[in-house]
Amino acid sequence: MKTDVLILGGGLAGLSAAHHLGGLGVSSRLVLEARQTPGGTAGSVRRGGFTFDYTGHLLHLHDPCGKRLILDLLDGNVALHERRARVFSRGVLTPYPFQANTRGLPPAVVLDCVAGFLETVHRPRRLPRRPDFLSWSRATFGEGITRHFMRPYNEKLWRASLSRLTTEWQGRFVPKPSPAEVLLGALGGGDAHFGYNASFRYPVRGGIQALPDALAARLEPGVLRLGAAVEAVDLREKAVLARDLGEVRYERLVNTLPLARFLDLARPLPLAVREARGRLRWNTVWNLNLGVARPDVSDAHWIYFPERRFPFYRVGVSSHFSPRLAPAGHSALYVEAARPGGVAVDRPRLEAAILRGLREAGILKRGDQLSAKIWMPIEFGYVVYDFARTQAVTAIFRHLAKLGVESIGRYGAWKYSFMEESILDGKRCAERLAGRAVPRPEPVPGAEELKPLK
Ligand SMILES: Cc1cc2nc3c(=O)[nH]c(=O)nc-3n(C[C@H](O)[C@H](O)[C@H](O)COP(=O)(O)OP(=O)(O)OC[C@H]3O[C@@H](n4cnc5c(N)ncnc54)[C@H](O)[C@@H]3O)c2cc1C
Repeated sequence: MKTDVLILGGGLAGLSAAHHLGGLGVSSRLVLEARQTPGGTAGSVRRGGFTFDYTGHLLHLHDPCGKRLILDLLDGNVALHERRARVFSRGVLTPYPFQANTRGLPPAVVLDCVAGFLETVHRPRRLPRRPDFLSWSRATFGEGITRHFMRPYNEKLWRASLSRLTTEWQGRFVPKPSPAEVLLGALGGGDAHFGYNASFRYPVRGGIQALPDALAARLEPGVLRLGAAVEAVDLREKAVLARDLGEVRYERLVNTLPLARFLDLARPLPLAVREARGRLRWNTVWNLNLGVARPDVSDAHWIYFPERRFPFYRVGVSSHFSPRLAPAGHSALYVEAARPGGVAVDRPRLEAAILRGLREAGILKRGDQLSAKIWMPIEFGYVVYDFARTQAVTAIFRHLAKLGVESIGRYGAWKYSFMEESILDGKRCAERLAGRAVPRPEPVPGAEELKPLK
């Protein structure tokens, strides 16, 4: 088998690359996807009348082109929601974000948070050019907010020491309030609706799977091969070995598999690249989805849990995103716990601790019937932005670019990003391959010498 462009992975980035290549006249392309359904991390699973996503997958549309494309794909099958996010700490539910909503917490905690924040305003700390996340949090939010939320929450999520993380990922994701917002949030009456996800969109029918399904439906028959797990990549011979398909030869390769996995399958790789691969770190999100035979287990869309006594860092009620995700009279919940990538987990033990935690937090009540329960772990959940990452990915992408290999999407590009960005990554990659002038996120020496397909 032979194709001009071989795309590894049928998640949003891979599907989008194939769709846009078609629109640009590159018809010889093939997508290899290991699972029996497209969508990857943005897929959904149906079980006993429930539709479960891989935790919450909400549409935050920031780019005009991405917004147009996604709304066109969903063709009216979408609703706009105003965020109802909370933080559960010290037995109290406060609105998210924590840093601007401390009212209701014990007075000593409120004082600690507000005084610490004001200290950052009156006595700003100087930070190095590339600060670590912990120092940045202390300098930005103060000691109290760092102690009561930023540090415990982020340690639970990243499963890494915060003094070893950079701040490169947080720009859009960690909102910084003004002193007035912090004070109002402590006294009451503040406007909590700031931050990157104050409102969001979500499909009315079909869960988030509706989005990759709509992209896949735009491909001609035969372009997307499901159940075709990539088993080996020969970069010298420009050939890939796929389950049930055998050898596929290509002119240009687009990878959207997690970079670490792709490099483990690829040969030959120079020592420097193999060493860089060894420095890549990620976490696994252990996602437990539950169906509960009771409507409205909580009015929140999702709740953050910074305290160590809870094994999860976030719990969401997905049936609030669309009532069609659960049968009438039921609620659909997702629970997220994280562990370092590649570390084995005792699932029954974690599950027992999660159920205990949900009861302790008052989300599950005595006598609640669980009408569905399904584990949907995300093996590569979040790329860990430690100080080794930038250097490692630069070395890896430099080498791949010399070979004409594109590596895109949240995991292919080894970054923290959203569904919209994965779709746009696919579009830009298609434009580069088709010879359109699209600047790369970072200049890669050698890449400009490659000839476009058209
Ligand atoms: C916990 C969590 C919550 C998130 N919440 C949101 C949110 O609310 N909103 C939002 O916009 N984004 C969210 N995201 C991000 C979003 O999931 C991603 O940006 C997007 O889905 C990534 O798409 P992708 O195509 O880049 O990668 P993927 O979806 O990972 O696609 C890669 C594909 O490669 C396939 N694959 C893997 N190995 C092989 C192999 N050997 N052979 C063939 N195929 C293989 C996989 O099955 C997968 O289909 C969240 C992510 C996580 C982890």
